[in-house]
Amino acid sequence: MSSLLLFLLSPLVLGQAFALDFRYHNNHEMERYLVQISSSNPDITHLYSIGQSVRGQQLWALALGLSPRRHTVGIPEFKYVANMHGNEVLGRLLLLQLIDDLVRGYRGNETWSLQLLNSARIHLLPTMNPDGFDASDTDCVYSQGRVRAVIGWLRTESFVLSANLHGGALVASYPYDNSNGGSELVGGASMAPDSDVFVHLAKAYSHNHATMHRGNLCSDSTSFPDGVTNGYQWYPLAGGMQDYNYVWAQCLELTLEVSCCKFPPVEQLPALWAENRKSLLAFIQQVHLGVKGRVFNGSGVPVQDAVVEVKGRRNMCPFKTDRHGEYYRLLLPGNYSFTVTYPGHEVLTETLSVPYGPDRYSAMKHDFLLRRVPATAGGVPLRPTSANLTPPCNNTLRLDGGGANTGPSWAGLSAGLAMVAALRSLIG
Ligand SMILES: [Zn+2]
Repeated sequence: MSSLLLFLLSPLVLGQAFALDFRYHNNHEMERYLVQISSSNPDITHLYSIGQSVRGQQLWALALGLSPRRHTVGIPEFKYVANMHGNEVLGRLLLLQLIDDLVRGYRGNETWSLQLLNSARIHLLPTMNPDGFDASDTDCVYSQGRVRAVIGWLRTESFVLSANLHGGALVASYPYDNSNGGSELVGGASMAPDSDVFVHLAKAYSHNHATMHRGNLCSDSTSFPDGVTNGYQWYPLAGGMQDYNYVWAQCLELTLEVSCCKFPPVEQLPALWAENRKSLLAFIQQVHLGVKGRVFNGSGVPVQDAVVEVKGRRNMCPFKTDRHGEYYRLLLPGNYSFTVTYPGHEVLTETLSVPYGPDRYSAMKHDFLLRRVPATAGGVPLRPTSANLTPPCNNTLRLDGGGANTGPSWAGLSAGLAMVAALRSLIG
């Protein structure tokens, strides 16, 4: 055997994708595939565990991008999570195929893959619930199991956009899933301050899907115009992942129901991948909506926890800059008035004209430069700002006391918000 042939057969050949067949890989096979693809493509992939399942299995996430191991300022973080319910298995297969597709495309110098990986860091968690997968039967309807390590993940990365893949219907669902019974209830839907963006995101998926946009094609009677629905309007749910991501981690998340059958027969898998491929890629591209940038203090240093608000969008927890001093704000094209507040600095208000970013693979870039409040000899206290209030949002990115729900207490949130609103009215 020639040395060249030996080299080609070696698992250490770099820059290689591995053929993925269309079947359900068990947890061990999936792990082996992820290790192979990451070790042979270390320049654009990074395999890491977000924690362990109840039975001690690793929850593997694969990050793809030009800097797969760490965040780069200006590059948005995106994630797809699948198989949260152990027997909803198509999303798991779709994410493995997506990894294969992205790596193959990048190695083949294909523009669509180069553009996605050059402009975003994409995290894919094929199974959030490996224990549930092991225990699942091939039932089409019944739903079982979930794990919670994903909550801690939200603290380590500042995700901008996300989707959680499920099965049992064919629809893109958007927040809120829950309601306080207040002004957010509009015509049976529980509307978030960013509902215009959410509807756009949901349609970006359904209209790029082969059939989802036609409404519900599954055998139950629910109909979904355009293949999208407000979560609450479909069925109220407390402690859902998409509310949690949006309210507590300022990450806009959808719930994607990608197949009528939760455990589709193997022979249908190639067609189901073909139906979802374009929409999975198009949705990632939406991470480039709106505006991104940093907030600098009076000394020119980027600051964490500066509050960046958009007029007319009263988010339950105000969006804040992360530890890099960055903010990402997904918005549809238009003019928006931004208000930035940070302790010891003057409140800054600027109007920005926001173009459509996805076509250019970048949100509009805009940095906010704050000016320090001049020190006063008379010892007059600084005006309070949103940033130095202590809203209930500060310490609540955690599990909800081990109950059945993974999300925050909606009632507690409501009381806290009333407090924030009262404090805000003091600021004026
Ligand atoms: Zn589910």
